[in-house]
Amino acid sequence: MTENVLQYLKENREAQLDVLHKFLSIPSVSTESSHKQDVNKAAQFVADYLKSISFNNVEVKETKGHPLVYGEWLGAGEDAPTVLLYGHYDVQPAEPLELWESKPFEPEVRDGRLYARGASDDKGQVFMHLAVFEAFIKTEGAIPINVKVCIEGEEEIGSENLYAILKEKKELFQADFAVISDSGMVASGQPTILYGLKGFTGLEFTLEGPSSDLHSGLYGGAVRNPAMAMAHLLASLKDQDEVVQVDGFYHDVEPLTEEEKLLIADVPGEDYQQSTGVTKTISEKGYTAKEHTMARPTLELNGIYGGYQGEGTKTIIPASATAKITCRLVPGQEPEKIQDLLIKHLEKYVPDGVRLHVKREALSAKAYKVDPNHYLIKKTAESYTKAFGKETVFVRMGGSIPVVEWIDAIYKMPIVLLGFGTPEDRLHSPNESFPLESFDKGLETLVHYWNAVKLK
Ligand SMILES: [Zn+2]
Repeated sequence: MTENVLQYLKENREAQLDVLHKFLSIPSVSTESSHKQDVNKAAQFVADYLKSISFNNVEVKETKGHPLVYGEWLGAGEDAPTVLLYGHYDVQPAEPLELWESKPFEPEVRDGRLYARGASDDKGQVFMHLAVFEAFIKTEGAIPINVKVCIEGEEEIGSENLYAILKEKKELFQADFAVISDSGMVASGQPTILYGLKGFTGLEFTLEGPSSDLHSGLYGGAVRNPAMAMAHLLASLKDQDEVVQVDGFYHDVEPLTEEEKLLIADVPGEDYQQSTGVTKTISEKGYTAKEHTMARPTLELNGIYGGYQGEGTKTIIPASATAKITCRLVPGQEPEKIQDLLIKHLEKYVPDGVRLHVKREALSAKAYKVDPNHYLIKKTAESYTKAFGKETVFVRMGGSIPVVEWIDAIYKMPIVLLGFGTPEDRLHSPNESFPLESFDKGLETLVHYWNAVKLK
């Protein structure tokens, strides 16, 4: 059975790539209102494709913003699990156009890579799933599992309406697990499972001193300098070993197991010093830089301002100083609780003579992690390895993907992040591309995967 499906994909490769080219030719740039028609066209394209491969209840659902495409194929029966497949058909703007070697919405293959805006993020990866469903249906008359497809058009503008829809249509999207192919592999040809993402929270705070900037000769020595007070306050947050000094910050952090440390050690490491140009890399005391970036919480000062910023000298005591900090969180940490702890710390350590004003960062997210030993993850690793001929590595990432947190929070189902992008894809940049090797091997991975998880 697997052989027939793989054979179909091989024989129809050119025809399927042609369809992908058409999909990529639609400039579905979600952030620009001038592309509204194109965004609708891309949604319709996905819906038409789903209908053409016998999906049911296919619908272009209107939202307050751009539409979301839903479709289902539930022919595998009750004994088979149901997967919710999430992806997005919208893309980032292509500008600056002059930096593209070929036109962003006229796909072109060069040196084994398909160049177009959206080739990797995320039309190419969405299309791979559709192509595999087509192959199953055309050869076997059935997909091994039940499928619900949710392809949105607002990912690149923060998925503004998705949370509400996922919450409201709980029954419609309910499934046994979710698969998202909107991420990448750590290196080209290196099967990678992303099994954890960090959460996120932050604060902005201001220290106010005198009612206006003061003459440093007349008042220096009598009045607390808010910029200097800010420096002291900020320095109290973290020591030189990168250990956060906020009381309770690490309290709920899940300890890093020996097994995870081994998984992390197996990930081909980035040479941070070389790639960033710093003179020396750092990490939290007791952890490697890879462990720290992937699996330990961090606190960063993102910006600081106050006082005189112009040319030359201005001898003042500034009236105020402001700082913005954010934290990347790991499983166990609650964004709001972390904000509370940070505020408590600031209130305790703020030097006297200045007033503290705090603003909470509205955008917060909890971390996500799936057990790397979960059978869905094991099957993913096996399928990847079968197709790519290489052992799969397991990574956690310092970034956040909001939809992952939402699906986790609303549906409590396991989420498999099955990405095929490569570090060379230049997402969101000119000359975005996707290697055809990833396309071919990715299709094979998916064929193996749906077969491997067909039994509950
Ligand atoms: Zn994306």
